Amino acid sequence: MNSNDWDKVWSELGIGRGLVEACTLPLQESAVDLVSAGADASGREQLVTPMTLQCWQEMETAARSDGIGLLIVSAYRSVEYQCQLIQNKLDKGQRIDDIVKVNAIPGFSEHHSGCAIDITTDKCEPLTEAFDQTPAFIWLEQNAARFRFAMTYPRNNSYNIIYEPWHWACLED
Ligand SMILES: [Zn+2]
Repeated sequence: MNSNDWDKVWSELGIGRGLVEACTLPLQESAVDLVSAGADASGREQLVTPMTLQCWQEMETAARSDGIGLLIVSAYRSVEYQCQLIQNKLDKGQRIDDIVKVNAIPGFSEHHSGCAIDITTDKCEPLTEAFDQTPAFIWLEQNAARFRFAMTYPRNNSYNIIYEPWHWACLED
């Protein structure tokens, strides 16, 4: 997309220049090559890049052999889907300034790249800070780097994005 297209996408959601300029996240290339990582807990098929799938499968297998279950909550998301998530919150009366602290501005979500996976584990409410109290999180902290995964939004990150212990991305090349 060129910058006029992005301006249109953002302005339709009431995302002004100021918010875009304040965003320190990198603009993400949307993935073109996607493969299935299987269904999530709700039965929706989740997509990732081939490289991310390979790293994920190796990591999930290693975790399982250590008695740790890793589950995918959400992986690839299109720009359109990200817009819909934000529109749903606007429709419920949330303010755009607050929404973009939780949902990246469309174009800036690492989920567009197909390399990011929101992870949960058994007996944990998905997408909550409580994930960092689980054995799965402790396992990830100790082992994810071996499989090229890193947590993108640690506490007090420089992106002005909330702490997301569940959000991990595969660092390709
Ligand atoms: Zn995420």
